Amino acid sequence: MIGTVFLDRDGVINDKAAEDDYIASWDRFRFAPGALEALRRLAQAEVRIVVLTNQRGIARGRLTEEDLAGIHQRMAAAVEAADGRIDAIFHCPHDLGVCDCRKPGTGLFTRAAAQLPAVRFAESATVGDSLSDVEPAVRVGSLAYLVGDGPRLTALLEEAEQRGLPVAGSGRSLLDVVTRHLLEDGSDYG
Ligand SMILES: [Mg+2]
Ligand SMILES: [Zn+2]
Repeated sequence: MIGTVFLDRDGVINDKAAEDDYIASWDRFRFAPGALEALRRLAQAEVRIVVLTNQRGIARGRLTEEDLAGIHQRMAAAVEAADGRIDAIFHCPHDLGVCDCRKPGTGLFTRAAAQLPAVRFAESATVGDSLSDVEPAVRVGSLAYLVGDGPRLTALLEEAEQRGLPVAGSGRSLLDVVTRHLLEDGSDYG
């Protein structure tokens, strides 16, 4: 029984920016195919939906806290307009190696659990597109799911196995993971 789903943002909810680039404004934000539908289904299933996102672009001066807050406000509004819901968003604005919240650190997870007392890691799932999402999920005791396209996903799953990181399931998109793994009785929510 999944009570909470922790979602990475870039590469899961929205198409990620090119290498070394950041989504610095709403006009650059594109929902990943199926992501709004996935969020609608999770909301209908009464799963708590928490976004945990590294936003190092803030430390690097590519966007401000205010820019990020504006993007997240519009993202949440678009999700709600599509009958979905985002209950909370926690972000790490820091550069590499200076905090415990930047994933693969567990700080965003523990902050979420501290601020949302109903969160139980043992009854949670985490969906990300990198092993930096899987690693902290495994450490806190959340089931980890990976999103990716063919060759990239295969490489990620191989690396996870080499590093002894258990991946509970995978799919080509958030919607794929939600329908195949998180809401296996998903026909009820169709
Ligand atoms: Mg990502
Ligand atoms: Zn941080």
